Amino acid sequence: MIITYPHMGEAYIAIKAVLDDIGVESIVPAYTTKATMQLGSKLSPESICLPFKIMLGNYINAIKSGADTIIITGSCGPCRFGYYGPIQKQILEDAGYKDVEFIILDSPGEDFKKFISSIARITGGRFIAPIRALRAGYKVCCEIDKMNELVYYIRPRAINKSQVKAITHSFRSNIVNVKGSAQITELIRDTVNKLKAIELDTSFEPLKIGIIGEIYTIIEPFSNLETEEKLGELGIEVHRSMTVKDWADNTIVRPVTGRKPYTKEKRLSKPYLPALIGGHAQQCIAHAIQYAKHGYDGLVQIYPMTCMPEIVSRSILPQIEKDYNIPILSLIVDEQTGEAGYVTRLEAFVDYISGGREQAKAAIN
Ligand code: SF4
Repeated sequence: MIITYPHMGEAYIAIKAVLDDIGVESIVPAYTTKATMQLGSKLSPESICLPFKIMLGNYINAIKSGADTIIITGSCGPCRFGYYGPIQKQILEDAGYKDVEFIILDSPGEDFKKFISSIARITGGRFIAPIRALRAGYKVCCEIDKMNELVYYIRPRAINKSQVKAITHSFRSNIVNVKGSAQITELIRDTVNKLKAIELDTSFEPLKIGIIGEIYTIIEPFSNLETEEKLGELGIEVHRSMTVKDWADNTIVRPVTGRKPYTKEKRLSKPYLPALIGGHAQQCIAHAIQYAKHGYDGLVQIYPMTCMPEIVSRSILPQIEKDYNIPILSLIVDEQTGEAGYVTRLEAFVDYISGGREQAKAAIN
């Protein structure tokens, strides 16, 4: 069995750490490119959301490199994600990839026995080593979050922004060549040290933008045209509302320890969206409120074309904009999204919110 999994931001780093530690052979799919997206789009239903298409492209690349088993998380929530695994399996079979196995990992909170039996399929029935490996994988997620927070701080303040790009891109190239949680953690720490050595203009006070929206498109940099990097290079301190660690906390750790997931987010979003409608729509609303309360200057919502939960969030966000006096830009991504138009909208938004800050300063003085 040679396992693979779709890309979603830094998730591959933690999954690779866990599988390496257990001793299960796996293939990290090649980083997503336009060709990957086109490969997946060709086989996908036209109106399905972008993550489905990109993931399909990731699988085919990994199968061509030797993978025969695909791991994907499941969901019983009321959006399309719950259908991803079964439909993708059918599409791959129809395309001639008949012998590929799918292991769908539903949250332990939904069906604990099924979760354990799926884990047993991956680990060959072993449990002690996998528990240790899962803990180590979780720690890797924590290290990644710390590194990202540092990048968010450094990028807008760096005197030479190309140094940040060079270090983060070299991290991406090197991480696939190290094995196991110990080596991965060492590379992350080494990267953090290099980032800390970059010369900064600490007197610069950047505008702050929170990134909210659909989980895949805010976490996976290819799908959002590297929004974090682009905003950082425009001199903005960004913060992303969801990370792989948050997802693991709410989907695995909390259910296993008997706690309810996303309690704070559900409480905050309740006046605007009291019902679960799938995806992370309630979280999007809650994150918008949290960022506004923490004094952020603006928000960028990113979601895939036809994403049902985020279309609902988008219809609510103008009310949050008014209630909390925070500008919000909504960006929709699909395989037709052109980079030039996307960047122009980001730049125009940055100009708009920096104008707001100047006006506020003028009013105070
Ligand atoms: S949340 Fe949106 S993008 Fe994600 S699977 Fe559901 S409909 Fe598709």
